[in-house]
Parts: sequence; structure tokens; C-alpha cells
Amino acid sequence: MSEQHPESVGRIWLDVVATARRSAADGLVVGTSGNVSARVGDLVLVTPSGVPYDRLGPRDVVGVDLEGRQVLGDLGPTSELPLHLAVYRSTAAAAVVHTHAVHATAVSTLVTEVPLVHYAAAILGGPVRTAAYARYGTPELAEAMLGALEGRTGCLLANHGTVTYGDTLDQAYERTAQLEWLCRLWLTASSVPGRTPALLDAAQLDEVTEALKGYGQPG
Ligand code: 13P
Ligand code: ZN
Repeated sequence: MSEQHPESVGRIWLDVVATARRSAADGLVVGTSGNVSARVGDLVLVTPSGVPYDRLGPRDVVGVDLEGRQVLGDLGPTSELPLHLAVYRSTAAAAVVHTHAVHATAVSTLVTEVPLVHYAAAILGGPVRTAAYARYGTPELAEAMLGALEGRTGCLLANHGTVTYGDTLDQAYERTAQLEWLCRLWLTASSVPGRTPALLDAAQLDEVTEALKGYGQPG
């Protein structure tokens, strides 16, 4: 397949690889678990299936179109291609991150929605849902995920892991990190014997959602 591609594609590919490496370095995945993608127009750059992230270089770019046809590279795309493409077809996402982060995955075995123990849920658009279990890499998993993502920028996949998306790779990654933190917080608070964590209500979360529009530095 042609290795001719614009410079921006090469740069974004290196960002995809850097994000995948970061997920391993931060302990959100082990080995070749998880996958990362970024959309450039009608092209989707994805991590290849089953290749350790530290072995990926500039020449290993893998690109598919929105129908999943490979248009760049020789390495086969991630087995979770249906999941990544489903997000791009249904949202304005420019990047998708999938991990097996341990606290989030533990929570995915316990609840259908992450209890509102912290306002960080607003970063993901509201209470984070768990998509019903389906085998990895299947269209059924992608479909369950889309339902759980309704009105959200991230969800849990039952007995499997996390999916988040964003306008940039950094934003998608940050949402994964916040989701993992939120799940860790709930597990910590709910493991105190004889005590049940207090939860925020919907109005409190709406208030945070409004406030977050002005969070950080102007511009
Ligand atoms: P790939 O190596 O095919 O990306 O699969 C990893 C994974 O997390 C599947 O759910
Ligand atoms: Zn996975």
C-alpha cells in the first residue's frame, strides 16, 4: 500500500503512537491491550492489532477509511475497528481512546452507571454508563457502546474497559484518565465497611456543567 501521505498525517500518526505509549506508561493498559485512533478528514489512523506500542515508528502508520477499508500501511488495524468507526460515524470526534484501566474495568463489573460521587462526571457529559458485555472486536460491542455513549464523551464496557473520545488526542486521553480516577474514587469510598458514599444529584451536576464552561484561563 502507498506510503505517500501528507506531512500532517505523519505528525498525527506520531501523536497516536505517543498517546498509546502514554496509556501503557500510565498503567491504563498492559502489553498490547487497548487502542487509539485519530480522524483526519475521511481518514482514520489507528494503532495496529497486537503490536507493542514501543515498537511503532513513523513508517508503521495504519489508516482506514470510514468504511474500514485499509488505505495506508501494511500492519492490520486494531481488532476494535468497529468500535472506533462507530464513534466517528455518530459524533464529531477527532480522537478515540480505548483502555483496560483497572479501576474502571472493576467498576464495569459492578454497576450499570458510575455513581455520582464527584463532579468530574461532568467532564464526560454526565453519569457514565456501562455498555452491556459483548465479545471484543464485534459490531455488537460497538452498538452497545453507542447506546451507552448517548449524550456522553465516555463509557465503560462491561467486563472489558473504557472508551472516550474528544476533539483532540489529548482531550480523549484526559477523559480516560478522569474516568479511571472517578472509578477509583467510587471504589475507595464504597469499600468503607458499613458506610455508603453520599452522591451528587442531577441539579448539582448541571450546575457544575455550567461552571466548567468558564473553567481555566480565558481563551
Ligand atoms: P488490539 O491489539 O487488536 O487493538 O486489541 C486490544 C484490545 O483492547 C481489544 O479490545
Ligand atoms: Zn479492549
